[in-house]
Amino acid sequence: MAGLYIHIPFCKQACSYCDFYFLTRRQLKDPFTEALIHEIRAHRHGPFADQPIRTIYLGGGTPSLLSGGQVQRIFEELHQSFDIQSSEITMELNPDDVTPEYLRALLEAGVNRASMGIQSFQPELLQFMNRAHTSGEAEQALDAIRQTGFPSYTADLIYGNPGQTLQMLEDDIQTLLKYDPPHISAYSLTVEPNTRLGKQVELGRLPPPDDEETAAHFDLILEQLSQAGIDQYEVSNFSKPGKEAEHNSGYWSHENYLGLGPAAHSFWWEGDHARRWKNRADINHYLEHSSKRVQDEEEILSEKTLAEERLMLGLRTARGVTPEELRSRYNYRFTPRQLEFIDRQVRAGTMHFDQHTLRMSRAGLRIADLLTVDLLSGG
Ligand code: SF4
Repeated sequence: MAGLYIHIPFCKQACSYCDFYFLTRRQLKDPFTEALIHEIRAHRHGPFADQPIRTIYLGGGTPSLLSGGQVQRIFEELHQSFDIQSSEITMELNPDDVTPEYLRALLEAGVNRASMGIQSFQPELLQFMNRAHTSGEAEQALDAIRQTGFPSYTADLIYGNPGQTLQMLEDDIQTLLKYDPPHISAYSLTVEPNTRLGKQVELGRLPPPDDEETAAHFDLILEQLSQAGIDQYEVSNFSKPGKEAEHNSGYWSHENYLGLGPAAHSFWWEGDHARRWKNRADINHYLEHSSKRVQDEEEILSEKTLAEERLMLGLRTARGVTPEELRSRYNYRFTPRQLEFIDRQVRAGTMHFDQHTLRMSRAGLRIADLLTVDLLSGG
């Protein structure tokens, strides 16, 4: 089983915190769609053509800038070129693009899960983030999801913004809960160097996010979502039972995936050979070469690197990792020093460890990356 990721690199405007690959030259949407179709066809005889495709994810950028017809065309081509057996087909949507008609066109194409870039319902925060949508459009989009009976959706929230009070965050959560979301991703605002936010912080015009405030925001999210029956299953992800994101779970457990579109990553692991590669983040190159080879960087991954990645990603999930999987799939065993470290963490209440599973406690999940780095460096 494998996954497909498709990067649609267009946006209306640059959000202040974003360092993904995107461009605002939307007149390239038609040639891009053609180029993407050529790239899909170029994989007809590659290793992914024989793999049943379990999940598809259209991300970006802003995939909802494509017309319903363009999305349908892409899916027709995917069905011709791959063995699509997907139970989950997700597409990222920005609220200002969503109408009931558009959602119906996506349903017809086969999309069954919408990923809504809500971020906040507070006008001043949306403006601070330079989002293209208004809070009214966010609510209308959620209404449209309900009206059309869209099978499933997830909504993104961003917390830890300068000037965001606990009350503002609580209002955001309560507004979202009115729409009964099956899944929510909540991200703390991250300051990336090559963004407008990064420059503002660097120049001292904005303070960097405050750790204590961010932690208080996170606690509020955890508490309010868990009261609503939406539980944390990964550091940034929350869902009702059975509504966890399948596509991302594939990344966390080293399922093979093919990335299409500029800047998309791919991963292939077969026998003792594992590699990851990235398509070049350059639309002009992509438009010219997508039918041949657009990959840029390739990395061969050793068993040790794979094992460490599995620990880094697995210990961010509530399910954790099993020593049995680490042994059989990664040939990895904890050293006596690491076992001592784990033992200390169990006593401190940050990890749980029994014969079958190592996982973080709720307290441990808050500092999961830090604890895993310590564990990997020998405890
Ligand atoms: S819409 Fe998404 S990809 Fe585009 S600039 Fe904003 S955060 Fe980045």
